Amino acid sequence: MEEDLPPATEKAQALLQTFSSASLLASTGIGAFCLLADHVLQLNALQHHLWLRAVLDNTVHGVIGLWSWAIVIGVRKKSDFYEVILAGILASLIDLDHFYMAGSLSLKAATSLAHRPPLHCSTFIPILCLSLRLVLWLGRLKDSWCSLPWMLFISLASHHIRDGVRHGLWVCPFGNTAPISYWLYVSITATMPHLCSVLMYLTGTREVISTKHGIAIDV
Ligand SMILES: [Zn+2]
Repeated sequence: MEEDLPPATEKAQALLQTFSSASLLASTGIGAFCLLADHVLQLNALQHHLWLRAVLDNTVHGVIGLWSWAIVIGVRKKSDFYEVILAGILASLIDLDHFYMAGSLSLKAATSLAHRPPLHCSTFIPILCLSLRLVLWLGRLKDSWCSLPWMLFISLASHHIRDGVRHGLWVCPFGNTAPISYWLYVSITATMPHLCSVLMYLTGTREVISTKHGIAIDV
């Protein structure tokens, strides 16, 4: 039935769904998760267990990445579930560049680098996402593939914003911004999935949304 709706109505309906109570509740949840997780990471008991703290911190990056992507696409099908897991893995894997730069598996070496490692350069986010978009376009890959650049965007950006509370954003080659305030980080993390959804509609990445069949993605 929804397929017969005029495009404008369809788009308005899709946008309304982006701001449905379920997705607003999910983004409030992600904000609450940030507060809780960061509180746990500050506990004295964890400060002497460097590896445990690092693993937990990295897990928080992963959970934020997967949660954000789940808000964007909604988890209705098995493939959505895999996508969400992939987004979480991407958001976590970024920190491996610390070890790459240190040339060692030593956590101490990885966390005391003289320069920030390459995947933490925020300038790469638009470059990587647009390059992936170009590759998908050149490869004529359609449907679910076209949401991949957005998934990459949300995984990388959520990670950078969270790291930004301590280090600021590294906008190479221009240098570092001031550290992001804690509440700005929580607010951006909670609103980014909605912003991403809206941008996906505006750029035509998502055109049709159907409550019956999940989200159909088309270029
Ligand atoms: Zn990081």
